[in-house]
Amino acid sequence: MLEKHGIIDELLEDLSEEEKKNSLLIIKCLENGLTTDEEIAENIDIKLNKVRKILYMLYDRGIVSYRRSKDPKTQWYRYSWKFEPEKLERIIKRKHEKIVRSLEKTLEFEKNNIFFECENGDFRCTFEEAMEYNFHCPKCNSKLEYIDNSEIINEIERKINFYRNNGSNNVEE
Ligand SMILES: [Zn+2]
Repeated sequence: MLEKHGIIDELLEDLSEEEKKNSLLIIKCLENGLTTDEEIAENIDIKLNKVRKILYMLYDRGIVSYRRSKDPKTQWYRYSWKFEPEKLERIIKRKHEKIVRSLEKTLEFEKNNIFFECENGDFRCTFEEAMEYNFHCPKCNSKLEYIDNSEIINEIERKINFYRNNGSNNVEE
């Protein structure tokens, strides 16, 4: 099965290095039993606003959840955050299913079309489009030439297999 840290890394892959680093620190705090943003900010010495921002980003990805309660003294709301490791696998599966669906569309398009490419490599289009351009690149006016896309098709099929296996390492990435 999938390894927890691998999944977290993948779910955070679009974040900046700093956000990633802070995310991992915050998850660690939650795992260690801290629950409020104040506690976390104090513990890892990151500004409260940054901690909150990261917590909401993690929430957005389903990695953490929160519970809101009113402080009986101050009447202010408190947020208790919780790391949700048992949800990770489902999230990543859903994400991979989405990738597979999109790859399948691309695959169909690649299989159903003939492609032409500029000899300078700056433009690629279908045969129909190439005809409209009179087989000249709309960017640099060089010749558009037929290209064999079987390698691209193989690559897409390989990726589909990879994500169908939920990124299993049995298939080389
Ligand atoms: Zn060109």
